[in-house]
Amino acid sequence: MDANIELAPVLARRVTVFGSTGSVGAATLDVVRLARSRYGAHAFPLEAITAHRNVERLIRDARELKPKAVVVTDPALYGEVKSNLAHTGIEVLAGSAGLLEAASRPADMVMSAIVGAAGLAPTLRALERGAMVALANKECVVAAGAIFRRAAQESRGVLIPVDSEHNAAFQLLDFEQSHAIEKVTLTASGGPFRAWSLERMASATPEQAVAHPNWSMGAKISVDSATLMNKGLELIEAHILFGLPPDKLDVVVHPQSAVHCLVAYADGSVLAHLSAPDMKTPIAHALAWPKRMMSPSRRLDFTEFSQFTFEKPDIQRFPSLQLARACLQAGGAAPTILNAANEVAVEQFLGRRLGFLGIAQTVERTLSALSREVNGEAPATLDDVLALDGAARRRAREECALAAA
Ligand code: NDP
Repeated sequence: MDANIELAPVLARRVTVFGSTGSVGAATLDVVRLARSRYGAHAFPLEAITAHRNVERLIRDARELKPKAVVVTDPALYGEVKSNLAHTGIEVLAGSAGLLEAASRPADMVMSAIVGAAGLAPTLRALERGAMVALANKECVVAAGAIFRRAAQESRGVLIPVDSEHNAAFQLLDFEQSHAIEKVTLTASGGPFRAWSLERMASATPEQAVAHPNWSMGAKISVDSATLMNKGLELIEAHILFGLPPDKLDVVVHPQSAVHCLVAYADGSVLAHLSAPDMKTPIAHALAWPKRMMSPSRRLDFTEFSQFTFEKPDIQRFPSLQLARACLQAGGAAPTILNAANEVAVEQFLGRRLGFLGIAQTVERTLSALSREVNGEAPATLDDVLALDGAARRRAREECALAAA
């Protein structure tokens, strides 16, 4: 069948991209560009695109791709964006109120690619009004898992995972045979410090931590990959998105980053998902779901690999993975605290105010200081999440200051 006819309902989807100037956001706009050049200029009309401070890129993308609206979340930059987009007919919104307004506008598909808890409220708003949410921002489901699950059940909204491992799992999991799922294994590249000693990691710099061997990503997730906290957050994300118990979720280190997820079934079959390490593949899958369309991503060339290897993660050198696993087991408030403390610690490390090994220490000390909450119930409302997130951030900053003193 003609691809344009087959894909017509998908290509007509109105799309909003939160965090369009970031690594995932820019890759999403590249997928839209390819769809427009291949399937026609009307593919994926944009409702809104958003940036925090990178207004140069926001303005350039807006002029080229013509969304109905743009949002700049740093209100100080509103005037610059407004004057640069004068006479284009593009509406300019600002601040977190602007993000919420963009989330309420009638996009069929919303790409959630803001980094960190800043993406929480707009992603939830889009899900609650029944949008299809392509979810890259794992921090928001880790911080507010129960709330996301409830919102997805109560609205007509759908969460489509974009994180490569979860997108792979989404493609592999047979939800009608959920009784027969034995194990879902997420792969980790091991990051830039996979073969480093603890002594060497103690003096690792931000530049070394963000130099990921396989993936090109934003700074925060790159540091999370270096500590393996990224894989820990992903275990919690998988638990929330797929409703699987912690003992059915596992991690293996696979430095080639070609296999993204393995799903083992009760009959002994193991299904694997492979692709080149390029986010445009899961992004294109999410935008076109349940159809498939062309993506501008790299293709996997098996002749480039002499071997595929799989090894156990070393939790002595990468304690963040174990901290996240403990929070997954504990449930309740623990994942919210874990996420907030990690965001603060990574920010401090990137600002050279905390050593690399101090990241896991800060998270551990914050969890222990807030242990009464850790053993408590999961926050029930968005306000409760934001209050707990704020308390954990304050405590984590204190821990970082003590570590630096
Ligand atoms: P980037 O740092 O590259 O981009 C982040 C985006 O969020 C930018 O558009 C940035 O705007 C915007 N932003 C930053 N702070 C705020 C804020 N306070 N309020 C509103 N917007 C803000 O991140 P990535 O693209 O790497 O990651 C985005 C999300 O996707 C993360 O949650 C990450 O874990 C997840 N993810 C990323 C993958 C990757 O390959 N990069 C893979 C899988 C998941 P500006 O540019 O103006 O600062």
